Amino acid sequence: MKKQYVVIGLGRFGTSVAKTLVDQDADVLVIDANEEKVDQAINFATHAVQADATDEQALKSLGIRNFDVACVCLGEIQSSIMAALICKEQGIDLVLVKAQSEVHAKVLYKMGVDKVVFPERDMGIRVAHNLISSNILDFIELSDDYGIAEIEVHPAWVGQTLVDLDFRKKYGVNIIAIKGPENAVNVSPLPGDVIAEDDILVVIGEEESIGKLERHGE
Ligand code: ADP
Repeated sequence: MKKQYVVIGLGRFGTSVAKTLVDQDADVLVIDANEEKVDQAINFATHAVQADATDEQALKSLGIRNFDVACVCLGEIQSSIMAALICKEQGIDLVLVKAQSEVHAKVLYKMGVDKVVFPERDMGIRVAHNLISSNILDFIELSDDYGIAEIEVHPAWVGQTLVDLDFRKKYGVNIIAIKGPENAVNVSPLPGDVIAEDDILVVIGEEESIGKLERHGE
């Protein structure tokens, strides 16, 4: 059976989450206190309802307990905490909340929220990596120390195989995918695969090691 998602709060973040879920063919209920936001959401969401997400009765009467995943995207900390608490108390398996600060996140985790995200902070990290190093096209932080990066191929790598490059030994970094021309993605690169000039390498490893690899080139 399809998973049921509820997205609470239709700001920029919530709307983007809801739209992407719908694009991925998920069933999505969106909730917002603002009538206009709800009217706009009717165009893309499976269901859109105007309700105050801090009102337990309102969420209960929407059958919130039947949902598998809740995404709480409210800007205001107190509302976010209330809505998250109701979702957890109603027994939703996976509750993800957008946090404003470390303290907010700490409270959410103490309450048993399953995942907390900081979209602005996370995007800031990605953008900064891009700015510092023009060869790093994108960076996703996995933890404080580890990340996944998309790196442009250094001229010295062209024509070499993954064995020749031996990034794992030299830098402790693994190549997990190679993006070729026209969106071709090799998701299980083999040791003998040869690197081409226009390839983009998707690597996973310690942030520092990725930086070293990118700077040294070979
Ligand atoms: P973003 O920064 O992602 O744009 P905002 O904080 O601006 O997020 O947006 C939050 C959204 O949540 C708004 O659309 C607002 O109407 C809605 N909202 C705020 N409080 C409540 C509430 N108690 N119940 C339901 N929706 C709410």
